[in-house]
Amino acid sequence: MAKNFDVAVIGAGPGGYIAAIRAAQLGLNTVCIDEFESVDGRPSLGGTCLNVGCIPSKALLESSENYERALHKFGEHGINIKDVSLDVATMLARKDKIVQQFTSGIGLLFKKNKVSSMHGHGRLTGGGEAFQIEVKGKDGSETINAKNVVIATGSVPRQIPGVKVDNVSVCDNTGALSLKEVPGRLGVIGAGVIGLEMGSVWKRLGSEVTILEALPTFLGAADEGIAKEAWRIFTKSVGLDIKLGSKIDAVKVGKKAISVQFEHEGASQKLDFDRLVIAVGRVPNTQDLGLESVGVKVDARGFVEVDERNRTAVANVYAIGDVVRGPMLAHKSSEEGVAVAETIAGQHGHVNLEHIPWVIYTSPEIAWVGRTEQQLKSDAVEYRSGQFPFIVSGRARALGETAGFVKMLADAQTDRILGVHILGPFASELISEAVVAMEFGATAEDIARIVHAHPSLSEAMHEAALGVDKRFLSL
Ligand SMILES: Cc1cc2nc3c(=O)[nH]c(=O)nc-3n(C[C@H](O)[C@H](O)[C@H](O)COP(=O)(O)OP(=O)(O)OC[C@H]3O[C@@H](n4cnc5c(N)ncnc54)[C@H](O)[C@@H]3O)c2cc1C
Repeated sequence: MAKNFDVAVIGAGPGGYIAAIRAAQLGLNTVCIDEFESVDGRPSLGGTCLNVGCIPSKALLESSENYERALHKFGEHGINIKDVSLDVATMLARKDKIVQQFTSGIGLLFKKNKVSSMHGHGRLTGGGEAFQIEVKGKDGSETINAKNVVIATGSVPRQIPGVKVDNVSVCDNTGALSLKEVPGRLGVIGAGVIGLEMGSVWKRLGSEVTILEALPTFLGAADEGIAKEAWRIFTKSVGLDIKLGSKIDAVKVGKKAISVQFEHEGASQKLDFDRLVIAVGRVPNTQDLGLESVGVKVDARGFVEVDERNRTAVANVYAIGDVVRGPMLAHKSSEEGVAVAETIAGQHGHVNLEHIPWVIYTSPEIAWVGRTEQQLKSDAVEYRSGQFPFIVSGRARALGETAGFVKMLADAQTDRILGVHILGPFASELISEAVVAMEFGATAEDIARIVHAHPSLSEAMHEAALGVDKRFLSL
């Protein structure tokens, strides 16, 4: 007889596994279905984020930054190391170990919270009193019933038509995180978050990196001031060769090189690479999900249509994370997971999409929350701004990481904080103060009057807040 559940979550990424845990905590009989397998064919929970996204990329970023510090930065501290060398296999093994620890940890969390876990491809086959979901695994298939369904199937890399990804020569994020040796010439198509992060890793490890970006602007979603300074740093200091406005015409994989033919600045050009990374964004994953069997709709771009509380038009079917509108970020997926579980349990789950922090883990890091200066201008909002450079921060000087600044934007009349933009060391950590402040409706004056530890990077946030009222104390 088919098993019956209160909630079936399809997908065990940061959206799905969190939704399942929260639902079980609230007393709902919950199953989480996931099909992801590691390269050796083992079920591996945690979705894109834990397996081939956030966690492995940050592990490699840290390793590559350490390598660069040992090569170029330790000297000024009086630490002299002879014969610094790179062992890519050990670096990858460390990354794989971190991934393995986290992915197996999800299984333990499921046990602790009494979430049932099923491995296989989940597909809706019908509705009625309950929904039927067929779970197809290696050893056959089983159909279960669930009163509520949460679709958390995430996203997959966008493909370039005619370009075959083999994850050896031509890679998406999965291959880019596992290159066995440092390519001499690395081509990256796409200067978005993933392209910049991956390009930076392999550049630090020794590759000549060229990034081809179709758009004429750099980091269009970021505040223009941040994007401009980041461009200067990434192209001049980091040494990434970023060619904006490049239209890819053809990619040919030969025995000796991968040739990319593209149009740039009005001319047809060709570059040869040893490895190519395709990072042209991600698309929602609704493949073979059986949405039509219950009447769930997707929009023109393939996202599952949901309202502000992640409800689809079909009662008791919800969708969260990368498969729905909003930024494709792990923490956004997780918060939607919590909200949906609470809604199913009769509570009032809610996520404020206005205050989702964005982070790009380059060096220096970029992070922001709220509106950019260009958005405020185009919305004709009167604002005041305070900008404080890290070069004046004692802690940043001690770290030797002085590039960048904190910029705070506040409403000219009410002083309420409208956006905070950071380029600099540990921007990913610093942004949390701004998120908390904005969620509590704080003003720049509130932050200016809060004591910040000295010497700390957070003093730059304090000074930016003071700067909104043109009363810097250290500038
Ligand atoms: C290289 C890289 C770096 C990133 N770095 C960051 C970062 O630093 N910070 C950040 O916030 N975000 C980052 N992201 C984005 C982040 O990984 C995603 O936003 C996040 O994983 C989305 O979570 P999700 O739960 O919606 O979906 P996913 O994590 O994609 O999980 C979906 C899961 O559902 C499974 N699935 C799909 N269809 C079915 C089905 N029919 N049946 C069963 N299982 C199914 C998939 O196999 C997968 O396991 C990064 C992404 C990449 C690629």
